[in-house]
Amino acid sequence: MEKNAKIYLAGHRGMVGSAICRKLQANGYTNLLTKTSSELDLRDQNAVASFFADEKPDYVFLAAAKVGGIHANNTYRADFLYDNLMIEANIIHSAYINQVKKLMFLGSSCIYPKLAPQPLKEDYLLTGPLEQTNEPYAIAKIAGIKLCEAYRDQYGCNFISVMPTNLYGYNDNYDLNNSHVLPALIRKFHDAKECGAKEVVVWGTGTPKREFLFADDLAEACLYLMEHYNEKELVNIGTGEDISIKDLALLVKEVTGFAGELVFDTSKPDGTPRKLMDVSKLHNTGFKHKVDLHEGVQLAYQDFKEKHATHEI
Ligand code: GDP
Repeated sequence: MEKNAKIYLAGHRGMVGSAICRKLQANGYTNLLTKTSSELDLRDQNAVASFFADEKPDYVFLAAAKVGGIHANNTYRADFLYDNLMIEANIIHSAYINQVKKLMFLGSSCIYPKLAPQPLKEDYLLTGPLEQTNEPYAIAKIAGIKLCEAYRDQYGCNFISVMPTNLYGYNDNYDLNNSHVLPALIRKFHDAKECGAKEVVVWGTGTPKREFLFADDLAEACLYLMEHYNEKELVNIGTGEDISIKDLALLVKEVTGFAGELVFDTSKPDGTPRKLMDVSKLHNTGFKHKVDLHEGVQLAYQDFKEKHATHEI
């Protein structure tokens, strides 16, 4: 990627997109193209087609998506399927029409079958049924992968797909109902400490295991792969290590300094029992994450407190 190439970053205000934006700028890329969702509705086929025809970007990072935690995925099932399908189809097709040199599509670890062997290798895709709570989102993300593969096969487009594990970091969503587990726990423990509550409610049994990657590490991996990886096969991006939800809650409790108890609400779904990525392909490229979970939770909590103090959250 040339340093003055025109790079369109779809989803630049989200946690992932903003991390990629910072990484691109830090690495000397000067010609970044961004649009807010009110300036450009990525679900609108005509709007996206005109935008690409006018701007003719050289490279595209497709980090725009409707995202959320287990409750949001399970509740807004139609929105998660429709919005994500439209965003992907519009951008990937326009990238082909306008001869984009390379596009990176960001998927998710939930594309793998619910009961796939662990750790999850890239070739386990479509080998079994998906987890119910996020099936619509996973189906949309699988469609995105298949779009990249099909435009490569039929038209020779250099479109690559990466599958990040569960992410957290700066600019995360801390909404108690719709966020992912880590930001939700940061908020719950912080609020409980502030108001002197005796307990914090953790959803599910606490036994599912998840892998967590700091979004800035993801951004570094994405930039590296955009610069060096040109194959059809997807690449997992994670740490290769996971933790139970109970141990995660204990870690957040320690970082936030909450002194009370944990209570598990087993009326809430557990979701997939485990989704640990096999990251050998990523590690073979020489990339390894830098921020470990303890340090990352401290950084995220600091960010939360700063934004909370200024009423941004
Ligand atoms: P998932 O990885 O797609 O299942 O999405 P989440 O990050 O939302 O949830 C991961 C796990 O954390 C699930 O087993 C949830 O039940 C559990 N969990 C525990 N407490 C919470 C919470 O307050 N919010 C969320 N979103 N999940 C929680």
